[in-house]
Amino acid sequence: MSDLMSDGLARNFLAGAWVEGDGGARIAVEDPGTEEHFADCALAGEATLAKALEAARVSFERGDLADMQPSARSRMMVRVASEIRAIADEGATILCRESGKTLDAARDEFEEAAQYFEYYGGVADKIEGKSIPLGPDYVDYTTYEPFGVSAQVVPWNFPVSIAARSLAPSMAAGNSTVIKSPELDPIGLSLLGSALERADVPSGVVSILNGIGSELGARLVRSTEVDQIVFTGSVQTGQAILHAAADSVTPSLMELGGKSAAILFDDADLDMFLASLKSGIFYNAGQVCSAMARVLVDRSIYEDAVERSAILSNGLSVDHGLINPDHTPVISDLQLSRIENVTSTARQEGARIAAGGARLDRKGHFMAPTILADVDPASHAAQQEIFGPVSCFTPFETEAEAIAIANGTEFGLVSGVFTKDLARAHRVARKLRAGQVFVNEWFAGGISTPFGGVGKSGFGREKGLEALYNYVRTKNVAISLKG
Ligand code: NAD
Repeated sequence: MSDLMSDGLARNFLAGAWVEGDGGARIAVEDPGTEEHFADCALAGEATLAKALEAARVSFERGDLADMQPSARSRMMVRVASEIRAIADEGATILCRESGKTLDAARDEFEEAAQYFEYYGGVADKIEGKSIPLGPDYVDYTTYEPFGVSAQVVPWNFPVSIAARSLAPSMAAGNSTVIKSPELDPIGLSLLGSALERADVPSGVVSILNGIGSELGARLVRSTEVDQIVFTGSVQTGQAILHAAADSVTPSLMELGGKSAAILFDDADLDMFLASLKSGIFYNAGQVCSAMARVLVDRSIYEDAVERSAILSNGLSVDHGLINPDHTPVISDLQLSRIENVTSTARQEGARIAAGGARLDRKGHFMAPTILADVDPASHAAQQEIFGPVSCFTPFETEAEAIAIANGTEFGLVSGVFTKDLARAHRVARKLRAGQVFVNEWFAGGISTPFGGVGKSGFGREKGLEALYNYVRTKNVAISLKG
């Protein structure tokens, strides 16, 4: 266990100091794989939040990051990346225990976090403006300025990598950042504070606070000290934050939920599809915003696809995340009950349980890997985000019908096409209403490919060069040379 929590208490990273929070308030963090208490976490309250926001403002006004030589900012971010790698082993064990994910997946989060710092560190000195020709009497140029204080609210499914996904471009652009960690698994993320410390990031540039969403989170996004909101989480919370942002007209970036569909055409390579299904819906126990939550299959190969998918699901190894099995628990008992409820409702609505369908009879919040077949596209199970290891299969007759079903939810995060026909892949990709389309490999792409939603999956993009421009605003300077 980390030195930072050698007494079993995870603290808040407040402008470079590790603090307990307000009034001794704590939250118990559970190990979802054993249902046992793992650690306690000190909760930040109003006073700690005020200090974090003030430190962020002071640091920004002082120009700690914004006035740093861009090449020095770049080098500092690359140092953060290497410090993240230095804490990855310790961090991964903690993250595995508090989230239930596999140790390898937890380690991957730290690695991905390091890569975000390298990637955005590499562009910190390349945020170039434009010169606009207005004729001989004027000089006109644009610059990209940081917003100031960026408030970032992070979900529990990938707390470390998602926090880094937003923090790295925010820092590259010169903002100060206050992060609200997810209350279910806050500790791995708070360790990023120690990487920032070790990399000599000026104190005040970043604070990472632990708190309950409806309390600390709501307070953070309502603060008039915040110049930008970055939210990743559920649609419902995103809507509440947007209402708050409307009052203060605070620019917001929304990365919300999904109900993404893969379309499996009759010429698809089924082995390739099954490898994608395995990661697409069972990685992190399906608690992935861009999970392969629906599979639309050409009627001629439908039964075969369902049967082989069920065999794959039933054959997955199940264990505590520390053992690195194929399948791990979901985050909490509440989440498990929600998933089970959707599955039993689906059955009442006519779906066939091809695999799984209920919780596993063992210690820990384990949902059986589940394949629901013959799911009505209009049903609750096909329309609502389940956020668990459950994929809904539906047959289709024509390409047009497949596209209509894929586009037929209020979400639009990602989509997938499995076919050997390149022309069809391009044609269908063009028609799919989603921020990203995977062809023949679910989760293809990486930190450099833009990611984000349409519809209720949100707006704005994270990842890639494009995301950087969500963390700056444009200023135009128009100069008259007359007289
Ligand atoms: P959530 O909306 O319940 O919580 C997300 C964060 O918001 C948490 O830190 C929570 O404490 C905080 N929060 C809750 N209420 C708040 C309020 N009123 N004001 C401010 N903050 C508040 O979501 P979750 O259950 O943690 O995460 C799962 C959801 O996140 C799923 O819908 C998933 O699809 C989505 N998600 C989206 C992406 C993406 O990039 N699009 C990535 C991961 C997860």
